Amino acid sequence: MESEPSLTSYITRLPKVELHLHLEGAAQPETLLELSQAKPALRQKAEEWITARRANNFHYRSFPDFLEAFKLVSLLIETPRDYALLTTRLIEWLAAQNVRYAEIIFAAGVVIWKKQSVDRIFHAISDATEMASSRTGVRVNWIFDAIRHFGVDHAREVLHSAARHRSGGVVGFSIGGDEIRGPAKLFADVFREARDLGLHGVAHAGETCGPQSIRDAVELLGAERIGHGLTALQDANVAALLRERQTPLEVCPSSNVCTGLITRWEDHPLPKFLDAGLTVTLNSDDPAMFGTSLQDEFVQAARSFALHRETFADLCRNAIQASFLSAEEKRELQLELVEFQRSKKTPHPNSPPPLPSPRGEGKGEKG
Ligand SMILES: [Zn+2]
Repeated sequence: MESEPSLTSYITRLPKVELHLHLEGAAQPETLLELSQAKPALRQKAEEWITARRANNFHYRSFPDFLEAFKLVSLLIETPRDYALLTTRLIEWLAAQNVRYAEIIFAAGVVIWKKQSVDRIFHAISDATEMASSRTGVRVNWIFDAIRHFGVDHAREVLHSAARHRSGGVVGFSIGGDEIRGPAKLFADVFREARDLGLHGVAHAGETCGPQSIRDAVELLGAERIGHGLTALQDANVAALLRERQTPLEVCPSSNVCTGLITRWEDHPLPKFLDAGLTVTLNSDDPAMFGTSLQDEFVQAARSFALHRETFADLCRNAIQASFLSAEEKRELQLELVEFQRSKKTPHPNSPPPLPSPRGEGKGEKG
């Protein structure tokens, strides 16, 4: 088996794409503390929360416990400036991991619940994105997320705010939250409207519920990607449906371990998804709330499942293909990946040593 340092170095330099990443869940503890300095009522809570998370190694008692934590984090992020700061730091962090493209989920539904202006906040986010993207070269688009258990009117309000910001980089609409209290059938019309408005539709499904929830997201909502889909293999017909339609799964193993949906990384069905011919992408979900990163998810997958390095490139290829970029933009990223793979081909032991790279490749490595 390949040595871990060699594989880690390969993963570090692999041009990566992230499709399931929540802006709020990517707020690092230091940033949250910084934001809470101006909010004495929340500061103590923030400090307690961060201490508890570190003590528990970012594990939550249950999925509802995690949702409560997400709520607290969301309350600490208040002003358009706060959101802009998070955006800038997140894009810089992605650049350091050599993430080349990300579709970031913005909890517009939570902003509405906080009775704040989605428009003002997203203007700040969009401006920050433009600056950070041009500085780092990381391309970013946005997905507005509604909360399933807040109901249809709420989801429609989120959708309409997403539609207002298409020119600011919003490409999709999604739903997350409680799959039981907010079943897919409630949102069929909203997803149809999203398509009419030119937005892509994504749903967290099969995260806390069985495979029927995944089937409903695909068949009733026309979801183009499934967030998690952890229970997909519990029903052979659902697996067949995903395979036939080539609906990509946004797999986030650390998230599933930390929210208690599975016990250990090794229990994650990711390798079985691959064996079953499903389209898998690897993602970090709420990296700061789970003490992870996309880079870490790849390294941990290498450790837990002994995947070959070609499989990691395949996961990146899947993510490019599953993204909501234009065909031309996808082609550019696929080319970058092919170039990378070509440069990393292990030379035959009897072949002559490679010529020194004119661009000094290997120096100044990121991560
Ligand atoms: Zn998520």
